[in-house]
Amino acid sequence: MSQENEHVQCFIIGSGPAGYTAAIYAARADLKPLMYTGMQAGGQLTNTTDVENFPGYPQGIMGPEMMEDFRKQAERFGTDIRFGYVSSVDFSATPHKIVVDEVKTITADTVIIATGATAKWLGLPSEQQYNGFGVSACAVCDGFFFKGQDVAIVGAGDTAAEEATYLAKLCKTVHLLVRRDEFRASKTMVARVLSTPNIIVHYNTETKEILGNGKNVTAVKVLNNVTNVETDIAVEGFFVAIGHKPNTDIFNGQLNMDETGYLLTKPGSTLTNIEGVFACGDVQDMYYRQAVTAAGSGCMAALDAERYLAAKEHPVTA
Ligand code: NDP
Repeated sequence: MSQENEHVQCFIIGSGPAGYTAAIYAARADLKPLMYTGMQAGGQLTNTTDVENFPGYPQGIMGPEMMEDFRKQAERFGTDIRFGYVSSVDFSATPHKIVVDEVKTITADTVIIATGATAKWLGLPSEQQYNGFGVSACAVCDGFFFKGQDVAIVGAGDTAAEEATYLAKLCKTVHLLVRRDEFRASKTMVARVLSTPNIIVHYNTETKEILGNGKNVTAVKVLNNVTNVETDIAVEGFFVAIGHKPNTDIFNGQLNMDETGYLLTKPGSTLTNIEGVFACGDVQDMYYRQAVTAAGSGCMAALDAERYLAAKEHPVTA
């Protein structure tokens, strides 16, 4: 059956904590939301193992299982959840047009964007092999598992500096691998790193391989690109902090973004520059990037959408 003329009140793009929380709130407000999950249903948390910092799970929970709980809760209130990806959007007129899987057009009164961001990886096969078993792209999420141990972190921006400092509070030694002879991070952050005794900065250092015993990480093989000397540094954890890419390509030219592609929202809200289009979660947040902050902003997006629709239905006349 052709779904060319399908129209919904609320279309949610993305199925991480932000998207599902928006769905729970929108469904309970009777907006009958339709969600397209994207190709990685459940989002970034489906790549992680234990999540111990999401309130409400005193014993912690596996990332994929937690996202299953989010999905069930969104479905319980009637969210129509479909697997598929949004290939393009047209926000130039109302109702907004969303093209799914390159073939199906759906129109919507409100659109909630929760497409998230993707951590950049080095691209080494060993990095993927040990992802979740010693390799992580989030120190705040996984640092705790390496309490009292030796870890390495790669990157030289503010995230790497901040995460190295965070890890230094938990771990015995933090090896910070910087590929050039200087940081990109701000002076204050660098000063903090350099004054932390258990952070060892390795300049001009590239990661060649993450070494392990088949189960866990045991060391990292690095190359000094000035001396050409290769060394193995014994570590139990390896953190990648070389930046994230927000998933915003399909909104190019339609929504306001910063120079790195993060969507810009009106401060204190989820409003984008287009009426009826809201953004929540990592796609508009380069700083916090936590499941709980994403969920919080998902709630905000649903409330903003609900209020927008209510104001349209009952305009206040002066
Ligand atoms: P950035 O893009 O700023 O930095 C990425 C870093 O990773 C660079 O130093 C880069 O090295 C390094 N890198 C990239 N690819 C590789 C590779 N293959 N091997 C080794 N190193 C690599 O990303 P961040 O996530 O650090 O920051 C993103 C934005 O968020 C920035 O604007 C930052 O200021 C902001 N931010 C602010 C914070 C705060 O104010 N508290 C905290 C966190 C982020 P190179 O320098 O050689 O290119």
